Amino acid sequence: MGDSPSSASSAAPAFSEFRSHAPGHWPEVSRDDWNDPKWQLKNRISGLGALEARMTLTDEERAGVLLAGNKLAMSITPHFFNLIDVDDPACPIRRQVIPRLEEAWSAPEELSDPCGEDSHMPVPGLVHRYPDRVLFLVTDRCASYCRYCTRSRVVSGVGEQHLETQWEAAFRYLERTPQVRDVLLSGGDPLLFSDSKLERILSRLHAIPHIEFVRIGSRIPIFLPQRITPALCAMLRKYHPLFISIHSNHPKELTSEVRDALGRLADAGVPLGNQSVLLRGVNDDAETQKILVQKLLRCRARPYYLYQCDLIAGSSHLRTPVSTGVDIIEALRGHTTGYAIPQFVIDGPGGGGKIPINPDYVVKREPGRITLRNFQQEQFEYPDPTPVPASEVERLKERASEPVSQ
Ligand code: SF4
Repeated sequence: MGDSPSSASSAAPAFSEFRSHAPGHWPEVSRDDWNDPKWQLKNRISGLGALEARMTLTDEERAGVLLAGNKLAMSITPHFFNLIDVDDPACPIRRQVIPRLEEAWSAPEELSDPCGEDSHMPVPGLVHRYPDRVLFLVTDRCASYCRYCTRSRVVSGVGEQHLETQWEAAFRYLERTPQVRDVLLSGGDPLLFSDSKLERILSRLHAIPHIEFVRIGSRIPIFLPQRITPALCAMLRKYHPLFISIHSNHPKELTSEVRDALGRLADAGVPLGNQSVLLRGVNDDAETQKILVQKLLRCRARPYYLYQCDLIAGSSHLRTPVSTGVDIIEALRGHTTGYAIPQFVIDGPGGGGKIPINPDYVVKREPGRITLRNFQQEQFEYPDPTPVPASEVERLKERASEPVSQ
C-alpha cells in the first residue's frame, strides 16, 4: 500500500547538527509572532487545504487526512511542519504527524486502550495501577498529534471516547491515599496549559505531604519549543523535585530552538528524560537511534525509554517486530556512552506495565558461575562469591589479637 519503508535509512550524519528551520513555509511572519506560542498554536496545520497549500500529498496521505476526522485529529505546529521534507514521501517527520490510509484499518491484535488504563481509574482522569504512583490525565489536547498516540481513543477530542477529568475528586483521592508518592501529569500535554493553570495544579499537589515528587510527560519542547519561556521555567522551579519526560523520536526534531528550550528547563533544575517510540520508517535503524541518543545528551536530556509501539488501533504500518528494538540496543551497547542507552520496553498489552527487553548477554548459567558475552562477542566467566572458610576466619582473628609491634 503506497510507500512502506521497512527501515528509516535517512539519518544522514547531517542530523547530528542543531539547525533552525524557521521561518521555512512562513517567510512573511515576524520574528515576534514566530516566537509566540499562541501564534504557533493559532496557525497550526489542521486541514487538508492548509496541508495541500504547502505540499503534495501521496494518495495514502490524502485518504488518511480525509479519514482522520473521527479518530485522531490532525494538527501540526508551523515549527514542526517546517521539519518535514515535502519532497520525500518517506520523510520520518512526515510519517509521525500526517495521517495515512492505513490508520483506518485495525489489525486483529490491536486495542483501543492498549495499556488498559480505563479499567484502573478510581476517579475519571486518574489512573492508579501501581501502589505508589498515579497517572493524572489532565487534558486531552496536544500541540500536534502523533499518529501512533497510545491515547488516541481520547486525545484530540474527536475519537470514540472523551476525557472528563474530575479535578476536585482526583485531588481529594490523592489527599486521602497516602501510598501515592509520585504523580505523573500527562494527557494530552500538560504544558499546553497556561502558566497559572499549571501552577494551580502543581501547588495543589505540592501541598499534599505524602507526594514526594511530580513528573510531567510532554512533547511540547519538541512540537512547540516557544512555549518553554523563562516565565514558565521560573514557575516550574518553585515545585522541585519536578521531572519532565520529553518525547523525541528522530534527531531532526532536535533543532537549535529545541536545544535552547531544553537548556532553559535544565537551567531551572528540571531533570530531563526522553521517551522515544520505535516506529517503522522513522527511527527503526541503529544509525538514526545513535544520532538521536547522542544528540539528546548534548541537549541535557537523558535517553530513558525506547518503547515498542503499543498495539494501538490503526498502527500496524508504524509498528516493527520486537527484534528490531533488541537489535538497536545491541548496536548501541558498548558502541556509545552507557548514559545514552535507553531501556527498551514493551508496555504489557491490556495493563501489564513496562517490561524491559534486552539483548541476551548471558551465554550459560551453571551452579557457581555464569558465562557472559560482551558487545564484541567475547566470553567471560563470572563466579559466585567464595565464602571465607571458617579456618581462615579463626586464623585472622588470632592474628588480629596479636600485640601490635611499635
Ligand atoms: S504528544 Fe503525546 S499525548 Fe499528544 S498525541 Fe503525541 S503521543 Fe499522544
